[in-house]
Amino acid sequence: MATEITIHELLASAPETPLLERQLILAHVLGKTRSWVIGHDQDSVCELANSVYEKRLERRIHGEPVAYILGHKDFWKHRFAVNKATLIPRPETELLVETALAAFPDTTKTVLDLGTGCGAIAISLANERPAWQVIASDLSASSLAVAKRNAQGTPNIRFFQGNWGEAIKPRSVELIICNPPYIEPGDEHLSALVFEPSSALVSPCKGLHDLHTVIKEARDLLADGGTLLLEHGYNQQDALCKRLHNHGFTHIETYSDLNQTPRAISAQLG
Ligand code: GLN
Repeated sequence: MATEITIHELLASAPETPLLERQLILAHVLGKTRSWVIGHDQDSVCELANSVYEKRLERRIHGEPVAYILGHKDFWKHRFAVNKATLIPRPETELLVETALAAFPDTTKTVLDLGTGCGAIAISLANERPAWQVIASDLSASSLAVAKRNAQGTPNIRFFQGNWGEAIKPRSVELIICNPPYIEPGDEHLSALVFEPSSALVSPCKGLHDLHTVIKEARDLLADGGTLLLEHGYNQQDALCKRLHNHGFTHIETYSDLNQTPRAISAQLG
């Protein structure tokens, strides 16, 4: 007869993986919360759950991010489905949501999230601002499928497929938000990010190519007086300030994330 193993015993293996992650993976396998797992550590685990847990733990040991193993990531006030087609939303990207909400009240407004991925920014904004019409675009059909699933129950959002703004009507948007790929090819941090789509992370020209494309396209997409809000890499703020200025943007403002790293920039057209 197979011997049953307790939650406590199961969680004791693979101590090189943080306990928090082992608990999250086991909770997900059991269909329970992490606090349930902590409170039931003398319960026994059936053989099937045990073997599913071991396989998922193995994926984690090989470097796969916890979010892909669980199939979701919490961002702002919601849980977002993610898969290998989408970047995993980062806590620092909440700065874009926070900045947009602080700047603009809940009055009629057309807002565009370029390169929406799993939809984290666009859906968070749409839920916080029911009077806004949020448009989210992405080049990747697989990303859009995930984003649409995440947007179920959010009425004020529409999705378009296209390369940056190509699917969007010119001069139709009052606020553009974008977290483009901005990591320089060959950057040492990329070795830790191999499970995520490099198309969402890496951009040529010292990581600035896509940021430059978005600035150029924003000139056509924004209505007069419209605002562009971009996330960027730790060493790109000065170059972007100049670029925005040279492209006719004014009221340039910069923002740092919770690590005090320069992380976002906003500017107004005209
Ligand atoms: N901030 C992310 C990271 O450093 C990169 C996201 C992006 O390129 N937009 O992992």
